[in-house]
Amino acid sequence: MKSEVRAVVIGGGVVGCSILYHLAKIGWTDVALIEKNELTSGSTWHAAGGMHTFNGDANVSKLQKYTIDLYRELEALTGQSCGIHANGGLMLAANEGEMDYLRLVASRARYLDMETEIIPVAEAKRRNVLIEEKYFTGALWRSDGGHVDPWGTTHAYAAAARKLGAEIHRFTRVTGLSQRPDGSWDVATDKGSIHAEHVVNAGGLWAREVGRMVGIELPVLAMEHHYIVTEAIPELEGLDKEIINTTDFSGEIYVRQEGKGALLGTYEHNCTPWSVDKTPDDFATQLLPDNFDRIAPELEVGFEHFPAVGRAGIKKSINGPFTFAPDGNPLVGPVKGLPNFWVACAVMAGFSQGGGIGLTLSRWMAEGDPGADIMAMDVARFGVFATPRYTKAKVIENYRRRFRLAFPNEELPDARPLRRTPIYGRLKKAGAVFGANFGLEHALWFAPPGVEPVENPTYRRSNAFPYVKAECLAVREAVGIYETSNYGKYEITGTGARAWLDKLLACKLPRPGRMAIAPMLNPQGRIVGDLSIACLALERYLLIGSGFAEAYHLRWFWQQKPPENVHVRSAASTLTGFSIAGPNARTLMQRLVREDLSPDAFKLFAVKETAVGMSPVIFSRAGFTGELGYEVWTTPDFQATLYDEIFEAGEDLGLRLFGGRALSSLRLEKGYGSFNKDFRPDYTPAETGLDLFIDFKKEGFTGRDAALAERERGPKRRLAVLEVDTDTEVIGYEPILKGGKVVGHVTSGGFGHYVGKSLAIGYVKTEHHEDGATFAIDIFGEDRPAILRAAPLHDPNGGRLRG
Ligand SMILES: Cc1cc2nc3c(=O)[nH]c(=O)nc-3n(C[C@H](O)[C@H](O)[C@H](O)COP(=O)(O)OP(=O)(O)OC[C@H]3O[C@@H](n4cnc5c(N)ncnc54)[C@H](O)[C@@H]3O)c2cc1C
Repeated sequence: MKSEVRAVVIGGGVVGCSILYHLAKIGWTDVALIEKNELTSGSTWHAAGGMHTFNGDANVSKLQKYTIDLYRELEALTGQSCGIHANGGLMLAANEGEMDYLRLVASRARYLDMETEIIPVAEAKRRNVLIEEKYFTGALWRSDGGHVDPWGTTHAYAAAARKLGAEIHRFTRVTGLSQRPDGSWDVATDKGSIHAEHVVNAGGLWAREVGRMVGIELPVLAMEHHYIVTEAIPELEGLDKEIINTTDFSGEIYVRQEGKGALLGTYEHNCTPWSVDKTPDDFATQLLPDNFDRIAPELEVGFEHFPAVGRAGIKKSINGPFTFAPDGNPLVGPVKGLPNFWVACAVMAGFSQGGGIGLTLSRWMAEGDPGADIMAMDVARFGVFATPRYTKAKVIENYRRRFRLAFPNEELPDARPLRRTPIYGRLKKAGAVFGANFGLEHALWFAPPGVEPVENPTYRRSNAFPYVKAECLAVREAVGIYETSNYGKYEITGTGARAWLDKLLACKLPRPGRMAIAPMLNPQGRIVGDLSIACLALERYLLIGSGFAEAYHLRWFWQQKPPENVHVRSAASTLTGFSIAGPNARTLMQRLVREDLSPDAFKLFAVKETAVGMSPVIFSRAGFTGELGYEVWTTPDFQATLYDEIFEAGEDLGLRLFGGRALSSLRLEKGYGSFNKDFRPDYTPAETGLDLFIDFKKEGFTGRDAALAERERGPKRRLAVLEVDTDTEVIGYEPILKGGKVVGHVTSGGFGHYVGKSLAIGYVKTEHHEDGATFAIDIFGEDRPAILRAAPLHDPNGGRLRG
């Protein structure tokens, strides 16, 4: 064993081996993998090996496609068979909701350039003879996917890595990790120590224990999972090819051929977490005892939906553990506060995702950037709120829902409410229907008296539609109040703050008493934040951004190495706030502040530390609705008083609560993009239009060179707002078509209640980006006409905003 390497990968499952291969491929050949047992000995060896491209996040789908396509390459490179069965996939729907989901998948596949087809059940039966037709209404066929041999695939990665010079040490246990002052790591093993510049935690079932070696508690938990393999099934005899791997949503079952029999597995409701507090050291290639009682209800349904499987005897059954994060996607990337420590764990679909994780993590380590938008897999999508107890509740919820439809307007109920602001009870009393953002409850809309505060999960317009409309109209015609506590908030202070922020942000920094829109770029010139910055004093700033991105942004700030005279502090739980917006907002706020709020005295983007009513606040003229508006920030102890005083002052002005759904509609009417939807690290300033807020005259800000070069070249695609002729709104990642060809994709959308139009935001190729250009958007399988609107549909000149 070498005593010095560039990187040590801990864990020889499919994920660790893929990372090792990709590191070597990118040129880091001086790397070692350490495995405490035999390769594959965690959850990898007993996997069913299924692979597919579908994921709620289109970028993850692309990486899954990369993974699946890689297997043939690995085989050619190493001669090691991956045991590829490229059978393709079938997804069965049993009701209209499930059909909608399949149509959405097919629509997104057009954008992703993946081959799919909606087919009748009879055709699905032709492709999988085991299906009992009467239980289903339709199906989606996809060309990619199938299954591989877990052992062969893992060893193919390992062989490819070895060929490039990487080392693999089996039967060697990592026992401790300690960091040197230069950020490199001493990796202690039971066979000696290795010094490595970087360490990767690909510990799978033991990822928590490896995390604990460096003092972190990763939000990951293993669940038991059962599948059965049957004896030979007569119906499969004599077929010229294997049946297509099939997912049955209503039965929560997956079925595929295994030899002459079938393999059937389920994500059972009555599920069991495994080793909740600590994974046993000595667990390796054991299985867990069968527990057919646990899966009996789902098996019963499975045997009805696939009767020939029920008639065959069970040859083998597997009950094994594998890991999940609270939302079912992997945890990948660097960890704030731990230089050169990387995680790649909670991978519940290693054979669909292992290759993509290896590719992006190796780029991130070697080049400082994952090279693709992987926010949906980024470990930083969880913050301190993801405690072990929260993780357990969410992992169980996620496991149970693995094959349930995830509706775009659905808010999952478990482990809630977790974080609450002081006015939670008041909002609840006012009929709030809540969502959770980074664990914090926030109002989505308000059910008026007599209406049950519950939203029906649907892909179409929900029961909330008329109530959201009423909220939007109140904002546009009178005044509304929205709780902004779920925004990301950061205090940056210190004598070095201004200089550090000047480099961090691409905008011209505001002078004291002013705010600015502040794009934040990575060195590749891509958007890592669309923040706003308030300069309270030359050495004190408040940054405001997306609440979802709080841990992501805090990690980014840390990576930009604030010097000792700069203090960066999250204000997530120490500042609560409101947005007050609408034509009556000035009259309302003037009743509560002593400052003169007339348009010339307190202009758009003015900010002041003052008092609103009895509460000390940071008070600004800003907002996201496109109306005259103010934002007020105060500490949680004042929030309820502030709320009550604003309400009292607004009673005769038509003040009304509005929630996230209305805010989303209002911002669409103004064409404002939203982080994590329209603005992500996939996009650039010129593509998003955020270049408008960049101070190109300023030297030395991160991403300047790349953004300048792009400005000169011109962007290949541009953000566009489209008016869509439809009675069903877009969801995201639908293709935008011109003459039947894909020329763009949707990033978000909804109904613009004030303008009375269905709207979509997305990116279209620059040559098509002109006012009035016509397109089609595939919404649930129908190509709906869409027109590009270059100017905002509401208040195009911004008179109401600035007035
Ligand atoms: C019954 C079942 C069916 C499944 N079916 C599928 C499927 O069809 N398709 C699919 O994609 N996925 C499936 N999975 C999930 C799949 O198994 C996982 O996604 C995958 O195995 C995760 O791989 P990993 O490398 O992250 O973790 P693991 O396989 O757990 O590997 C981690 C490795 O790290 C090693 N290690 C840990 N700590 C240390 C240490 N301190 N020192 C040295 N080594 C250490 C362990 O020994 C282990 O070998 C299934 C899982 C189960 C249980």
